[in-house]
Amino acid sequence: MNAPAVRGRCPSLMSPMEAGDGLLVRVKPRAATLTAEYAQTIAEASDRYGNGIVELSNRGHLQIRGLSEAGVDELARAMADIGLAGASPRAEAVRNVLADPLGPDDPDARFDSHRLARRLGAVLEGDPGLHGLPDKFGLLVDAGVALPLAGCTADIMVRSEGDGAAIALDDGDRSLPLAVGDVEDTVRRLLSAFLSWLEDRDRRDAPRPPRIKTMVAACGADGVFQAAGLHGETRPDKRADGPAKRPLPGFMQVADGPCGCFLLGAPFGSMEAERLADLAEMARVFSDGTIRISPWKAAVLCDVSRADVPALRRRAAKAGFVVEPDDPRARIVACAGRPRCASAKADTRSDAALMAAAGWVPEGVLHVSGCAKGCAHPSPAPAALVATAAGYDLVRNGGPGDAPERTGMTPEQAVDALAPPPDTAQIAAKR
Ligand code: SF4
Repeated sequence: MNAPAVRGRCPSLMSPMEAGDGLLVRVKPRAATLTAEYAQTIAEASDRYGNGIVELSNRGHLQIRGLSEAGVDELARAMADIGLAGASPRAEAVRNVLADPLGPDDPDARFDSHRLARRLGAVLEGDPGLHGLPDKFGLLVDAGVALPLAGCTADIMVRSEGDGAAIALDDGDRSLPLAVGDVEDTVRRLLSAFLSWLEDRDRRDAPRPPRIKTMVAACGADGVFQAAGLHGETRPDKRADGPAKRPLPGFMQVADGPCGCFLLGAPFGSMEAERLADLAEMARVFSDGTIRISPWKAAVLCDVSRADVPALRRRAAKAGFVVEPDDPRARIVACAGRPRCASAKADTRSDAALMAAAGWVPEGVLHVSGCAKGCAHPSPAPAALVATAAGYDLVRNGGPGDAPERTGMTPEQAVDALAPPPDTAQIAAKR
């Protein structure tokens, strides 16, 4: 296959991206689910053809790093053998559907989000007319009640609403209520409308935006629905109520009964292939034999008996996963950093480990970014440390591109800068 590697584009299984440690590809689980056998196959293939580092992405994909060109081909063949590859590079590139982790295992879900995600994935993959969608373009299907897709966005978002569903668009303030049975046709119409809008821009030599939000900014959400021939009454989008918090690692009761689900965080989104194999084994022993891949850099095991939680927690902690909600690593997001990314000015993951060990992680999220691009956390964070050639800059309540409060710090100085202010009342009392 030897597809040319690209920089700065969204990689997929057959369209690798050049990184500091070799080529990088993405494996996309269908409907957020990998069987333990598939996870084992991915672990073995990443070790054999790559450098054995597997990352979890914000879009619920697995990134396999450190591949050669021949390794990319071998890995793609291994994934095709287990049904995790599209029929062509374009079919695979556009197969971007994020689903809530529990799907039909969420007892309060109004519809089976995994079934719908598979159908929408088949639409994207099977219709060559849709293969001109930009690689970054994606769909989201969320019927989760116990574990909804908190804090996630996509170009077209299908969510549970009342007894049916509602479709919203990235950056749009209106959503379109509809019956679940109408979602597939409605999404097709929206995809076609977006592609027609792109073609119109091509004819005018206007830049080709990768996301629907540019169309939403130009036409409004209602304008996009109308361009797709959808004239139903829209409503204010529920997301305007404010972003939900991302779930923390550990056990979560799903409904009345003896079972629940367990979130295992991959420290800073990365794990060795051996850890993925451990996860597969834990899924066999403690769960239903599947691993759900979430967008929060964590894997989810379902149907875990409360009685098994202590044993699972011990085993997962021993394997290096984050299993406690108050573990500082659960609140630190770090990008690949040096030497894995050629643009990085620091080894973000080692520095993030140092900061986690100090325990002074501000409330919310601490974003440690290897450069101002901010790949790991595109939205603002309460604190962001951005590596530059002169050291780390600290941005409060913003993103890596915003004005820093302090500049040029060593990782140790950054730890001090994040330390809580001294309790002056206590100091005065001691005097
Ligand atoms: S944010 Fe991190 S991963 Fe992204 S380009 Fe910069 S250094 Fe690389």
